[in-house]
Amino acid sequence: MGKSVIIIGGGIAGMEAAARIAAMGKEVILLEKSDQLGGHLRKWDRLFPTRRKSDEVFEYLSNGLNDKVTIRLNIKINKIKKDDRHFFVILEDGESLKSDALLLTTGYDLFEAGKKEEYGYGIYDNVITSADLEAMFRNSAEIKTSGNQKPRRVGFVHCVGSRDEKAGHLYCSKVCCVTGVKQAIEIKEKQPDTEIFCFYMDLRMFDRYFEDLYYEAQQKWGIQFIRGRLSESCENPDHSILVKVEDTLTGRPLKMTVDLLVLLSGFVPSSDTNKLADMLGLLPGSDGFLTPVDEHFRTNETQVDGLFLAGTVKGPATIENTITDARSAAISIIKYLEK
Ligand code: SF4
Repeated sequence: MGKSVIIIGGGIAGMEAAARIAAMGKEVILLEKSDQLGGHLRKWDRLFPTRRKSDEVFEYLSNGLNDKVTIRLNIKINKIKKDDRHFFVILEDGESLKSDALLLTTGYDLFEAGKKEEYGYGIYDNVITSADLEAMFRNSAEIKTSGNQKPRRVGFVHCVGSRDEKAGHLYCSKVCCVTGVKQAIEIKEKQPDTEIFCFYMDLRMFDRYFEDLYYEAQQKWGIQFIRGRLSESCENPDHSILVKVEDTLTGRPLKMTVDLLVLLSGFVPSSDTNKLADMLGLLPGSDGFLTPVDEHFRTNETQVDGLFLAGTVKGPATIENTITDARSAAISIIKYLEK
Protein backbone atom coordinates (compact mmCIF):
# COMPACT_ATOMS: atom_id res chain seq x y z
CA MET A 1 0.00 0.00 0.00
CA GLY A 2 1.24 3.54 -0.79
CA LYS A 3 1.63 6.15 1.90
CA SER A 4 -1.29 8.47 2.59
CA VAL A 5 -1.93 11.84 4.16
CA ILE A 6 -5.03 13.20 5.86
CA ILE A 7 -5.52 16.95 5.60
CA ILE A 8 -7.98 18.58 7.98
CA GLY A 9 -9.36 21.81 6.56
CA GLY A 10 -10.42 22.37 2.94
CA GLY A 11 -9.55 26.07 2.59
CA ILE A 12 -6.75 27.54 0.53
CA ALA A 13 -3.87 25.85 2.39
CA GLY A 14 -5.62 22.46 2.51
CA MET A 15 -6.50 22.51 -1.19
CA GLU A 16 -3.04 23.61 -2.33
CA ALA A 17 -1.21 21.12 -0.07
CA ALA A 18 -3.55 18.32 -1.23
CA ALA A 19 -2.82 19.13 -4.87
CA ARG A 20 0.94 19.21 -4.34
CA ILE A 21 1.08 16.00 -2.28
CA ALA A 22 -1.18 14.17 -4.76
CA ALA A 23 0.96 15.40 -7.67
CA MET A 24 3.88 13.60 -6.02
CA GLY A 25 1.95 10.33 -6.07
CA LYS A 26 0.58 10.09 -2.53
CA GLU A 27 -3.03 9.40 -1.58
CA VAL A 28 -4.70 12.33 0.18
CA ILE A 29 -7.94 12.46 2.13
CA LEU A 30 -9.08 16.07 2.38
CA LEU A 31 -11.58 16.61 5.21
CA GLU A 32 -13.79 19.69 5.32
CA LYS A 33 -16.40 20.52 7.96
CA SER A 34 -18.66 22.57 5.66
CA ASP A 35 -20.45 21.58 2.47
CA GLN A 36 -17.88 23.13 0.13
CA LEU A 37 -14.14 23.63 -0.27
CA GLY A 38 -12.46 27.03 -0.39
CA GLY A 39 -13.07 28.40 3.13
CA HIS A 40 -13.21 32.19 3.48
CA LEU A 41 -12.12 32.60 -0.16
CA ARG A 42 -15.64 31.64 -1.33
CA LYS A 43 -17.13 34.63 0.49
CA TRP A 44 -14.72 37.17 -0.98
CA ASP A 45 -15.28 39.01 -4.26
CA ARG A 46 -12.00 40.61 -5.39
CA LEU A 47 -8.57 40.20 -3.83
CA PHE A 48 -5.93 42.78 -2.95
CA PRO A 49 -3.72 44.21 -4.33
CA THR A 50 -4.62 43.33 -7.94
CA ARG A 51 -8.40 43.09 -7.48
CA ARG A 52 -8.34 39.68 -9.14
CA LYS A 53 -11.64 37.78 -8.79
CA SER A 54 -11.45 35.28 -5.90
CA ASP A 55 -13.22 32.73 -8.14
CA GLU A 56 -10.10 32.58 -10.33
CA VAL A 57 -8.01 31.52 -7.33
CA PHE A 58 -10.63 28.96 -6.36
CA GLU A 59 -10.62 27.57 -9.89
CA TYR A 60 -6.82 27.25 -9.83
CA LEU A 61 -6.97 25.44 -6.48
CA SER A 62 -9.79 23.12 -7.63
CA ASN A 63 -8.01 22.24 -10.86
CA GLY A 64 -5.03 20.97 -8.84
CA LEU A 65 -7.07 18.25 -7.11
CA ASN A 66 -6.48 15.04 -9.09
CA ASP A 67 -7.95 11.55 -8.57
CA LYS A 68 -5.51 10.82 -5.78
CA VAL A 69 -7.41 13.31 -3.59
CA THR A 70 -10.52 12.01 -1.84
CA ILE A 71 -12.67 14.94 -0.76
CA ARG A 72 -14.95 14.43 2.22
CA LEU A 73 -17.34 17.29 3.04
CA ASN A 74 -19.59 17.92 6.09
CA ILE A 75 -17.13 16.06 8.29
CA LYS A 76 -17.19 16.18 12.07
CA ILE A 77 -14.17 14.78 13.87
CA ASN A 78 -14.71 13.06 17.16
CA LYS A 79 -11.23 11.98 18.08
CA ILE A 80 -7.68 11.64 16.74
CA LYS A 81 -5.36 8.87 17.88
CA LYS A 82 -1.79 8.05 16.97
CA ASP A 83 0.37 4.94 17.27
CA ASP A 84 4.05 4.67 16.31
CA ARG A 85 3.39 4.91 12.58
CA HIS A 86 -0.15 6.02 11.89
CA PHE A 87 -2.78 8.60 12.66
CA PHE A 88 -6.42 7.51 13.12
CA VAL A 89 -9.05 10.19 12.61
CA ILE A 90 -12.35 9.01 14.07
CA LEU A 91 -15.43 10.68 12.66
CA GLU A 92 -18.69 11.40 14.44
CA ASP A 93 -20.38 8.32 12.95
CA GLY A 94 -17.55 6.07 14.21
CA GLU A 95 -15.74 5.68 10.87
CA SER A 96 -11.97 5.58 11.33
CA LEU A 97 -9.61 7.01 8.70
CA LYS A 98 -5.94 6.01 8.79
CA SER A 99 -2.91 7.86 7.40
CA ASP A 100 0.87 8.04 7.65
CA ALA A 101 0.94 11.81 8.12
CA LEU A 102 -1.54 14.46 9.20
CA LEU A 103 -1.70 18.09 8.11
CA LEU A 104 -3.77 20.71 9.94
CA THR A 105 -5.01 23.55 7.75
CA THR A 106 -7.99 24.65 9.81
CA GLY A 107 -7.32 28.35 9.19
CA TYR A 108 -8.87 31.17 11.18
CA ASP A 109 -12.19 32.68 12.22
CA LEU A 110 -13.00 36.36 11.88
CA PHE A 111 -13.23 38.20 15.19
CA GLU A 112 -16.90 38.45 16.22
CA ALA A 113 -17.47 42.19 15.81
CA GLY A 114 -20.49 42.08 18.16
CA LYS A 115 -18.06 41.54 21.05
CA LYS A 116 -17.09 45.21 20.67
CA GLU A 117 -20.54 46.31 21.82
CA GLU A 118 -19.63 49.98 21.73
CA TYR A 119 -19.27 49.77 17.92
CA GLY A 120 -22.89 48.65 17.49
CA TYR A 121 -22.51 45.62 15.23
CA GLY A 122 -25.64 43.47 15.49
CA ILE A 123 -27.44 46.41 17.11
CA TYR A 124 -27.50 49.04 14.33
CA ASP A 125 -28.36 47.91 10.81
CA ASN A 126 -25.84 50.22 9.15
CA VAL A 127 -22.85 48.91 11.09
CA ILE A 128 -21.43 46.04 9.04
CA THR A 129 -18.16 44.10 8.82
CA SER A 130 -15.68 43.93 5.95
CA ALA A 131 -16.99 40.40 5.29
CA ASP A 132 -20.57 41.75 4.99
CA LEU A 133 -19.34 44.44 2.58
CA GLU A 134 -17.53 41.83 0.50
CA ALA A 135 -20.78 39.83 0.30
CA MET A 136 -22.47 43.01 -1.05
CA PHE A 137 -19.72 43.34 -3.68
CA ARG A 138 -20.27 39.70 -4.65
CA ASN A 139 -24.03 39.80 -4.79
CA SER A 140 -25.12 43.26 -5.90
CA ALA A 141 -24.10 45.95 -8.34
CA GLU A 142 -24.43 48.77 -5.80
CA ILE A 143 -23.56 49.38 -2.18
CA LYS A 144 -26.68 50.33 -0.25
CA THR A 145 -27.62 51.11 3.34
CA SER A 146 -30.27 49.14 5.22
CA GLY A 147 -32.80 51.70 3.92
CA ASN A 148 -31.85 50.77 0.33
CA GLN A 149 -30.15 54.13 -0.29
CA LYS A 150 -26.68 54.75 -1.72
CA PRO A 151 -24.54 55.89 1.24
CA ARG A 152 -23.18 59.44 0.94
CA ARG A 153 -20.54 58.84 3.60
CA VAL A 154 -18.87 55.58 4.61
CA GLY A 155 -16.52 55.06 7.56
CA PHE A 156 -14.02 52.21 7.90
CA VAL A 157 -12.75 51.23 11.35
CA HIS A 158 -9.37 49.50 11.48
CA CYS A 159 -8.11 47.04 14.13
CA VAL A 160 -11.47 45.62 15.22
CA GLY A 161 -10.55 42.85 17.63
CA SER A 162 -6.82 43.12 16.85
CA ARG A 163 -4.13 45.10 18.69
CA ASP A 164 -6.74 45.42 21.38
CA GLU A 165 -5.99 44.35 24.93
CA LYS A 166 -9.67 44.50 25.90
CA ALA A 167 -10.56 42.11 23.08
CA GLY A 168 -7.74 39.80 24.21
CA HIS A 169 -5.76 40.02 20.96
CA LEU A 170 -2.57 42.05 21.00
CA TYR A 171 -1.30 40.94 17.60
CA CYS A 172 -1.85 42.65 14.25
CA SER A 173 -3.99 40.72 11.76
CA LYS A 174 -1.78 41.94 8.89
CA VAL A 175 -4.32 42.02 6.07
CA CYS A 176 -7.22 44.15 7.36
CA CYS A 177 -5.53 47.49 6.55
CA VAL A 178 -5.09 46.55 2.91
CA THR A 179 -8.55 44.96 2.81
CA GLY A 180 -10.09 48.23 4.03
CA VAL A 181 -8.13 50.29 1.48
CA LYS A 182 -9.11 47.92 -1.33
CA GLN A 183 -12.77 48.04 -0.30
CA ALA A 184 -12.76 51.84 0.05
CA ILE A 185 -11.39 52.14 -3.52
CA GLU A 186 -13.98 49.67 -4.80
CA ILE A 187 -16.81 51.77 -3.33
CA LYS A 188 -15.37 54.86 -5.01
CA GLU A 189 -15.10 52.99 -8.32
CA LYS A 190 -18.77 52.01 -8.12
CA GLN A 191 -20.11 55.18 -6.49
CA PRO A 192 -17.61 58.04 -6.97
CA ASP A 193 -19.72 60.59 -5.07
CA THR A 194 -19.35 58.70 -1.79
CA GLU A 195 -17.10 60.33 0.82
CA ILE A 196 -14.93 57.78 2.62
CA PHE A 197 -13.12 58.06 5.94
CA CYS A 198 -10.76 55.43 7.37
CA PHE A 199 -10.11 55.55 11.12
CA TYR A 200 -6.79 53.86 11.85
CA MET A 201 -4.10 53.50 14.55
CA ASP A 202 -1.22 52.75 12.12
CA LEU A 203 -1.49 51.71 8.53
CA ARG A 204 0.34 48.47 8.04
CA MET A 205 0.72 48.11 4.29
CA PHE A 206 3.67 45.76 4.49
CA ASP A 207 3.59 43.73 1.30
CA ARG A 208 4.47 44.46 -2.31
CA TYR A 209 2.11 47.00 -3.97
CA PHE A 210 0.10 47.53 -0.78
CA GLU A 211 1.62 51.00 -0.34
CA ASP A 212 0.73 51.79 -3.97
CA LEU A 213 -2.89 50.99 -3.17
CA TYR A 214 -2.74 53.38 -0.21
CA TYR A 215 -1.42 56.20 -2.42
CA GLU A 216 -4.06 55.45 -5.04
CA ALA A 217 -6.73 55.67 -2.33
CA GLN A 218 -5.57 59.14 -1.29
CA GLN A 219 -4.41 60.69 -4.54
CA LYS A 220 -6.81 59.26 -7.10
CA TRP A 221 -9.91 58.77 -4.97
CA GLY A 222 -9.60 61.35 -2.20
CA ILE A 223 -10.21 58.80 0.57
CA GLN A 224 -9.47 60.43 3.91
CA PHE A 225 -7.37 58.70 6.55
CA ILE A 226 -7.91 59.89 10.11
CA ARG A 227 -5.53 58.68 12.77
CA GLY A 228 -7.76 57.81 15.68
CA ARG A 229 -9.53 55.08 17.55
CA LEU A 230 -13.30 54.79 17.48
CA SER A 231 -14.61 55.10 21.02
CA GLU A 232 -18.28 54.47 20.27
CA SER A 233 -20.99 54.70 17.68
CA CYS A 234 -24.71 55.36 18.04
CA GLU A 235 -27.66 55.38 15.71
CA ASN A 236 -29.37 58.60 14.63
CA PRO A 237 -33.16 58.64 14.14
CA ASP A 238 -32.65 58.32 10.34
CA HIS A 239 -30.52 55.18 10.95
CA SER A 240 -27.26 56.89 10.00
CA ILE A 241 -24.42 56.31 12.46
CA LEU A 242 -22.83 58.90 14.69
CA VAL A 243 -19.20 57.96 15.35
CA LYS A 244 -17.08 59.33 18.16
CA VAL A 245 -13.36 59.17 17.50
CA GLU A 246 -10.34 60.43 19.36
CA ASP A 247 -8.14 62.03 16.68
CA THR A 248 -4.72 61.02 18.00
CA LEU A 249 -2.83 63.41 15.71
CA THR A 250 -4.60 66.59 16.82
CA GLY A 251 -5.53 65.21 20.27
CA ARG A 252 -9.11 66.37 19.74
CA PRO A 253 -12.29 64.30 19.97
CA LEU A 254 -14.16 64.10 16.69
CA LYS A 255 -17.82 63.43 15.96
CA MET A 256 -19.02 62.54 12.51
CA THR A 257 -22.10 61.02 10.91
CA VAL A 258 -21.75 58.27 8.31
CA ASP A 259 -24.44 56.33 6.47
CA LEU A 260 -22.53 53.05 6.65
CA LEU A 261 -19.84 52.01 9.12
CA VAL A 262 -17.58 49.11 8.11
CA LEU A 263 -15.66 47.25 10.84
CA LEU A 264 -12.41 45.63 9.70
CA SER A 265 -12.54 42.50 11.83
CA GLY A 266 -9.24 40.75 12.47
CA PHE A 267 -8.25 37.09 12.50
CA VAL A 268 -8.67 34.86 15.54
CA PRO A 269 -7.65 31.20 15.90
CA SER A 270 -10.49 28.99 14.69
CA SER A 271 -12.48 27.18 17.35
CA ASP A 272 -11.88 23.88 15.48
CA THR A 273 -8.14 24.33 15.76
CA ASN A 274 -8.35 24.62 19.52
CA LYS A 275 -10.28 21.34 19.77
CA LEU A 276 -7.92 19.52 17.42
CA ALA A 277 -4.86 20.90 19.23
CA ASP A 278 -6.26 19.48 22.46
CA MET A 279 -6.78 16.05 20.87
CA LEU A 280 -3.22 16.06 19.53
CA GLY A 281 -1.52 17.50 22.60
CA LEU A 282 -0.36 20.66 20.79
CA LEU A 283 0.19 23.80 22.79
CA PRO A 284 -0.87 27.03 21.03
CA GLY A 285 1.34 30.12 21.15
CA SER A 286 0.50 33.08 23.40
CA ASP A 287 -1.70 34.49 20.59
CA GLY A 288 -3.72 31.25 20.40
CA PHE A 289 -2.45 30.22 16.94
CA LEU A 290 -0.46 27.00 16.53
CA THR A 291 3.30 27.13 16.50
CA PRO A 292 5.74 25.02 14.47
CA VAL A 293 8.63 23.28 16.12
CA ASP A 294 11.10 25.86 14.77
CA GLU A 295 10.03 29.31 13.53
CA HIS A 296 12.93 29.64 11.08
CA PHE A 297 13.86 26.25 9.69
CA ARG A 298 11.03 23.77 10.33
CA THR A 299 8.06 26.02 9.87
CA ASN A 300 5.54 23.28 9.00
CA GLU A 301 6.57 20.63 11.52
CA THR A 302 5.22 20.20 15.04
CA GLN A 303 6.56 18.48 18.12
CA VAL A 304 4.39 15.47 17.17
CA ASP A 305 6.16 13.21 14.64
CA GLY A 306 4.24 13.15 11.34
CA LEU A 307 1.95 16.07 12.24
CA PHE A 308 2.30 19.22 10.14
CA LEU A 309 0.76 22.71 9.97
CA ALA A 310 0.13 25.05 7.05
CA GLY A 311 -1.50 28.40 6.40
CA THR A 312 -3.41 30.64 8.77
CA VAL A 313 -3.68 27.98 11.45
CA LYS A 314 -0.29 29.52 12.38
CA GLY A 315 -1.46 33.14 12.32
CA PRO A 316 -2.70 35.86 9.95
CA ALA A 317 -1.32 35.63 6.41
CA THR A 318 -2.06 36.76 2.88
CA ILE A 319 -3.36 34.33 0.25
CA GLU A 320 0.04 34.29 -1.52
CA ASN A 321 1.83 33.46 1.73
CA THR A 322 -0.76 30.78 2.52
CA ILE A 323 -0.27 29.11 -0.86
CA THR A 324 3.53 29.26 -0.50
CA ASP A 325 3.32 27.81 2.99
CA ALA A 326 1.06 24.97 1.79
CA ARG A 327 3.64 24.09 -0.88
CA SER A 328 6.37 24.13 1.74
CA ALA A 329 4.29 21.80 3.95
CA ALA A 330 3.75 19.44 1.02
CA ILE A 331 7.53 19.17 0.48
CA SER A 332 8.13 18.56 4.21
CA ILE A 333 5.45 15.84 4.25
CA ILE A 334 6.83 14.06 1.17
CA LYS A 335 10.31 14.13 2.73
CA TYR A 336 8.85 12.66 5.93
CA LEU A 337 6.96 9.91 4.10
CA GLU A 338 10.02 8.89 2.11
CA LYS A 339 12.31 8.78 5.15
S1 SF4 B 1 -3.53 45.10 9.53
FE1 SF4 B 1 -4.11 47.19 10.06
S2 SF4 B 1 -6.28 47.01 10.69
FE2 SF4 B 1 -5.41 44.96 10.75
S3 SF4 B 1 -4.76 44.72 12.88
FE3 SF4 B 1 -2.96 45.40 11.68
S4 SF4 B 1 -2.93 47.61 11.91
FE4 SF4 B 1 -4.98 46.90 12.53
